[in-house]
Amino acid sequence: MNTLEPGHLRGQGGVAEDDVRTACEPEALKRAFLDHLLYTQGKTLEIASHNDIYLAVAYTVRDRLLRRWSHTSSRHKRHGTRTVAYLSAEFLIGPSLGNNLLNLDITDALRETLARLGIDLDELVRREVEPGLGNGGLGRLAACFMDSLATGEIPAIGYGIYYEYGIFFQTVVDGWQVENTDKWLRFGNPWAIHHPEWGVEVKLGGYTEHYTDDVGRFRVRWVPEKTVWGTPFDTPVAGYKVSTVNTLRLWRAEATEEFDFSVFNRGDYLGAVNKKVTSENLTKVLYPNDESHQGKELRLEQQYFFVACALRDMLRILEHRGLPVTEFPRAFAVQLNDTHPAIGVAELMRLLIDEYLVPWEQAWEATRATFAYTNHTLLPEALERWPLELFKSVLPRHLEIIYEINRRFLNEARIRFFGDESRVFRLSLIDESGERYVRMAHLACVGSHAINGVAELHSTLIKEQLLPDFYAMWPEKFDSVTNGVTPRRWVVLSNPGLAALATEALGDEHWIRDWPRIAGLEKHADDAAFIERWQRVKHTNKRSLAALIRDETGVVVNPDSLFDVLVKRIHEYKRQHLAVLHIVTRYHRLKTQRATDMVPRTFIFGGKAAPGYVRAKLMIKLITAVADVVNSDPEVRDLLKVVFLPNFSVSKGQCIYPAAELSEQISLAGKEASGTGNMKFAMNGALTIGTMDGANIEICQEVGAENFFAFGMSADEAQRLLRSGYYPRDLYRDDAELRAAIDLIRGGFFSRGDAGLFEPLTNDLLNEDRYMLLADYASYVECQDRVDAAYRDARQWSRMAVLNCARSGRFSSDRSIAEYARRMWHTSALPDTGHGG
Ligand SMILES: *Cc1c(COP(=O)(O)O)cnc(C)c1O
Repeated sequence: MNTLEPGHLRGQGGVAEDDVRTACEPEALKRAFLDHLLYTQGKTLEIASHNDIYLAVAYTVRDRLLRRWSHTSSRHKRHGTRTVAYLSAEFLIGPSLGNNLLNLDITDALRETLARLGIDLDELVRREVEPGLGNGGLGRLAACFMDSLATGEIPAIGYGIYYEYGIFFQTVVDGWQVENTDKWLRFGNPWAIHHPEWGVEVKLGGYTEHYTDDVGRFRVRWVPEKTVWGTPFDTPVAGYKVSTVNTLRLWRAEATEEFDFSVFNRGDYLGAVNKKVTSENLTKVLYPNDESHQGKELRLEQQYFFVACALRDMLRILEHRGLPVTEFPRAFAVQLNDTHPAIGVAELMRLLIDEYLVPWEQAWEATRATFAYTNHTLLPEALERWPLELFKSVLPRHLEIIYEINRRFLNEARIRFFGDESRVFRLSLIDESGERYVRMAHLACVGSHAINGVAELHSTLIKEQLLPDFYAMWPEKFDSVTNGVTPRRWVVLSNPGLAALATEALGDEHWIRDWPRIAGLEKHADDAAFIERWQRVKHTNKRSLAALIRDETGVVVNPDSLFDVLVKRIHEYKRQHLAVLHIVTRYHRLKTQRATDMVPRTFIFGGKAAPGYVRAKLMIKLITAVADVVNSDPEVRDLLKVVFLPNFSVSKGQCIYPAAELSEQISLAGKEASGTGNMKFAMNGALTIGTMDGANIEICQEVGAENFFAFGMSADEAQRLLRSGYYPRDLYRDDAELRAAIDLIRGGFFSRGDAGLFEPLTNDLLNEDRYMLLADYASYVECQDRVDAAYRDARQWSRMAVLNCARSGRFSSDRSIAEYARRMWHTSALPDTGHGG
């Protein structure tokens, strides 16, 4: 396929047609690849390793990004439009090669070129190791947003941390999760470019001095205990078939000086080296906790480090554009992805008042006009608060600034809520109900002009339950932007069969950048020939996943069985153990009722547990223990298989979501803010079995209740039941199937008679059951029976699957980004018109 007609090249804006070096036709690609192999890797084709070839290919692709990248930045500079700075402690971008090829539209050309050299491009794409710079949904959202920003040609920079060790690599040994370090940089990262010349110094610790300067002004000097040096690694983020290439700028910490010479000269060589090592520890490792907060000093330092680097960098860009510091809010819209970067509010204030001598009121106005805050969770254990003493020891000047912000804010609140001191107490940035803490969500709210939740239910609960006092004070600040995922990675790259079918059925590829057009599939939902092709695509995807499962676990699964999938972080609120209760119930039915008319199912689990989250690790053990028994019981035959696929990641997801037929979204209603996995499944034509939680509600609305398996209590009902007194043991007593399932587990049936093994789990279910599994159990099992009935009619099932995909138009991150841009950032696209490079 020739994708290089002149019109297309012109569309790449400023890429001169005579620029042969980065041209995209086979001859130029071949030349570039062989050059990189020899002159970058120092190898000839005969002796090149797999990694040499991968790197040479990656550099060849990167060259083609770089030209567009430099055009984009000069265009942004020239037009001076507002740039989005997306601040996130995590970016889970996944493998880059396939995505860049897709967006540059050179997949076919490069595949052909390499094939002639005996190299399989698809194999290089498949084997690429991904940077695991995030835990799960939050980091993956940031990556989808970067893709949509670039595709929408909105000027944007993603700011974060260049962790040396990403999220651990999970293996399963004897059924238990084992964590292995993820040395993702071991063989080099060809996508990022290090820019030490843009390094910045970051202060930490120490104390402040107050003084009066020469002209009689009150001034504050921060005397730090130590300083570290931050340098950026820039990764180009190409939009889909547009000339815009934005930047993901991740910061690494280094020692300010290679050695501390004062210590060195005293003869303490090891001490000097140690100080260097300590500085570099700052960005060594990603905290592997998802949806839980640990008040660790290093974590606070990481957060401040990358935010300080980011704001300094924005000031450098401002200066480079010749603009005064007061233009900051017009030049940048800074989005806080959760509270991890919320310290930015205090840091921008510090920069403006202490370093640029801007008066407080003006600085505060600029700060609020700059920041917007996205809340991601209602779980109390995930809300960040820092013990005051710890905070002061790391950021003494910021604590002073926070006190001053708080003083002014609470005075405003006292006037607004006259006589209501208890409300003022609740609003305070400092939690003084026991040990004192700095409340980061409150800092983010006060310092932002917009606050949003990530799905409609979540945004409502923020207003009513999480931050009602802030809502009473500033109702106009609160907004809701439902999450989305990019159809480029999650359909085009992951599910090429579906992509080809969609393009053929819709007559063009516009759906790739305009996902709502996928609605055009709906009119084919009753077309027998289309349905047959749809089923073939799904079956091919299921066979690929079956092969992956066999390779990784040794378990052979039947691609004709129903693929029932639950992949996400392992967490009690996500209730993987509710799915286990259902599986055990099925098993019990098979053993006691000879229920041979059961629909054959393969239950596929995946997900990591935080290393310190003992209960979640026990949930993994429970899944694998049930799998061992069920899979080896000859009586069960093909009717029931259970698989735990280790190391769930973006790469694994790309194989899993397209193969799924049933998407398990079974969190307790009111606990999952949005979810994005649910959207990936729906786009790929899986039906959802889910609670009315997060974005499940919106998915159900869109696809229609008749194409969605809803069960369980609503968030309201769950809260009411909890308030009126929840007695899980009564449910256990009164439901024979539930009792049988729990008794099998706690009797040691799945643990070779070791009745104690799962007791922490089963005791909790019987006594507290915070996530109310037992309350939803009967409804869930009944709903699963309806799934069986529906699956028996393959034609009707596929029809529903097509409708799920066709009606998922709302769940593209392109739509989310358009909403942020219009309502929160007040920024617009800066497309390349192709005139003047
Ligand atoms: C999409 C995704 C998630 C989020 O899944 P949820 O089901 O929304 O929790 C987590 N991890 C990876 C690797 C993902 O791709």
